[in-house]
Amino acid sequence: MTAIVHHPSNSLLLDYAAGTLDEASSLLIATHLTLCPHCRAEVAAAEAIGGSLLDDLPAAPLRPGALDAVMARLAAPAEQPTLRKPQPSTWLPRPLTERLGGDDPSLWKWRWLGPGLADLPLVSDRNRPSARMVRLTPGTGLPPHDHGGRELTLVLRGAFGDRFGRFGRGDVEETYPDMHHEPVALEGEVCIGLVVTDARLRFDGFIARAMQTFTGV
Ligand SMILES: [Zn+2]
Repeated sequence: MTAIVHHPSNSLLLDYAAGTLDEASSLLIATHLTLCPHCRAEVAAAEAIGGSLLDDLPAAPLRPGALDAVMARLAAPAEQPTLRKPQPSTWLPRPLTERLGGDDPSLWKWRWLGPGLADLPLVSDRNRPSARMVRLTPGTGLPPHDHGGRELTLVLRGAFGDRFGRFGRGDVEETYPDMHHEPVALEGEVCIGLVVTDARLRFDGFIARAMQTFTGV
């Protein structure tokens, strides 16, 4: 396995540590952390600083009945999980194995977007950042585009390249408005990644824009 070269920015890691990131971005960062000891250490350090700041705050008095409420919750039976726990995966990090119910991409409900290109929405809350799995066969790519906001791409399998570099397993590409690019899956394995966007992509071409009206990518 090649080492991770591209990490999320410090501001993303700090927001994650502070618990202020949205659901889709948190999913991507949590997944990256399972693959990246470097960023795990960064987040642990940020959490330690946050914890010591909390320790310095004066203790607030408990409201009446608070202790009883906590004890009642502790005594209540644990909620039964409704989903079968998937087996640990050799390649798909746990946050995604749990979301997808397993790690066999041939069983996932991919949505065809074009030749060699498919996606699978995971978080698609209107007005909030969305998360989707994206699959690219080698040699195919996303049409050239810019971004209405931030786009985060975490590679889980295979690799892609664009004018900002080569992105392999565990790498995160973070792009913003005016960072025009055209990611293409490199030769070898099918490239599978997790993509989080907080605004729609701005495609150059007419066909890609027309397709966008159907898919909402
Ligand atoms: Zn990292």
